[in-house]
Amino acid sequence: MADLTQKFDVLVIGGGNAALCAAIAARRAGASVLVLEGAPKFYRGGNTRHTRNMRCAHDSATEILTGPYTEEEFWDDLLRLTGGQTDEELAKFMIRESKDILNWIVEQGVRWQPSLGGTLSLGRTNSFFLGGGRAMLNALYLTAEKLGVEIAYDAEVVDLQIEDGMFLSATLKQPVGGASEIRASALVAAAGGFEANIEWLKEYWGEAADNFLIRGTPYNRGSILKMLLDKGVQDIGDPTQCHAVAIDARAPKFDGGIITRHDSVVFGIVVNKHAQRFYDEGEDIWPKRYAIWGRLVAAQPDQIAYIIFDSSVVTSFMPTLFPPIGAPTIAELAVKLELDPAALEKTLGDFNAAVQPGTFDHTILDDCRTEGITPAKTHWARKIEHAPYLAYPVRPGITFTYLGTRVNKQSRMVMKDGKPSANMFAAGEIMAGNVLGKGYAAGIGMTIGSVFGRVAGREAARNAKN
Ligand SMILES: Cc1cc2nc3c(=O)[nH]c(=O)nc-3n(C[C@H](O)[C@H](O)[C@H](O)COP(=O)(O)OP(=O)(O)OC[C@H]3O[C@@H](n4cnc5c(N)ncnc54)[C@H](O)[C@@H]3O)c2cc1C
Repeated sequence: MADLTQKFDVLVIGGGNAALCAAIAARRAGASVLVLEGAPKFYRGGNTRHTRNMRCAHDSATEILTGPYTEEEFWDDLLRLTGGQTDEELAKFMIRESKDILNWIVEQGVRWQPSLGGTLSLGRTNSFFLGGGRAMLNALYLTAEKLGVEIAYDAEVVDLQIEDGMFLSATLKQPVGGASEIRASALVAAAGGFEANIEWLKEYWGEAADNFLIRGTPYNRGSILKMLLDKGVQDIGDPTQCHAVAIDARAPKFDGGIITRHDSVVFGIVVNKHAQRFYDEGEDIWPKRYAIWGRLVAAQPDQIAYIIFDSSVVTSFMPTLFPPIGAPTIAELAVKLELDPAALEKTLGDFNAAVQPGTFDHTILDDCRTEGITPAKTHWARKIEHAPYLAYPVRPGITFTYLGTRVNKQSRMVMKDGKPSANMFAAGEIMAGNVLGKGYAAGIGMTIGSVFGRVAGREAARNAKN
């Protein structure tokens, strides 16, 4: 156990990818480093535990990536997905640095594996962690420990002492040992967003937030973010913006992870609790649309919706943790879902009648579409007519929030008066809003954490040594 009375060069708050990248980089730069992870050891690693891959620019195919993904293409994707709501200088810096991160992360013990299949088609752009996010984290923790980084678990930071943009100390609360004051020359805040804080979400979403499910850790309550913003750090990002997907309504409130996400939308239709369709299920290929469905469901009455499909497509998408609810007729399915049977029969009948002949191919924007109904299904529209009929109930699954601390290219926090903080840095979800004003590209959360984590660690170490 670390001697917590000593003054450390660098204090890192958080225990996920961004925190570990920062801690390792700071230690490699010669600093003494303490990591305070609020979660118990078994749950260490926040949302990073649930990840599978990371998006990095690269100029040619690698052993596991099927082709090049240039800086220009990455930037074009980011620009489109955010609708231009990104800090161009920081985003381009991140993309450039991501090229090097592909190798750096391997030097820290992380291994890659070939892309997983399924509906997201990421084989060219995203590198998958061998064994998933938890294995990736275990490798980073092992490296950090070997380098001499001190790590405390069950170590929630409950207050920060900051004066004129300068970090002085943090108040640590532990189940055993009570509260103590931790001093360090520099701070790296890598404590995630506020997605697990339902009360805070309610400030922007109202009562609807009670029906949100949180896909990741219950420990990301945004307490560090709030303290920093309250103590003079400039905020960035729209508090209502977040990454949210449709996940199974039967998933647990927290930590359901990737196996509760539904990728079957394009193969059927989606109705709300009034058995009405509300959005084009075939608007664009799934990797470009999966991340809008959380918000779409959030806007429906009682924040619930149902993906309806039939037995002909059950093997077309990745199965999830929960089996579909099935029935031999649409009316019986409606009863099981507690929907109005006549309303669901009409919606399905109207949909089937509107389907035009075409050649189905879910990998391209095919010509299978509807005509004469609103909303239209513009691609992959096929009649739903092969019993048994099946459904997944879905709710908004919040992945992470975008409101954050403004940083510069050194990952140094910027204060409300526009001046850079003397010794405070931020990395990961807590500053994601600098790059992600809205929208998302699969794998970019880990890019933000790794790139800015490494920069923050290096710069914090340099700051502490000077
Ligand atoms: C189901 C799921 C799947 C995902 N898949 C991917 C993927 O494949 N690729 C990708 O790029 N992104 C993915 N993401 C997003 C990704 O998880 C995040 O972008 C990334 O992990 C953020 O890393 P981080 O270090 O900033 O935060 P986290 O990994 O969430 O770490 C935050 C840490 O801060 C700690 N903490 C919070 N408050 C305190 C406090 N007061 N005191 C001390 N510690 C505190 C928490 O315990 C936690 O350890 C996924 C997210 C989820 C939920």
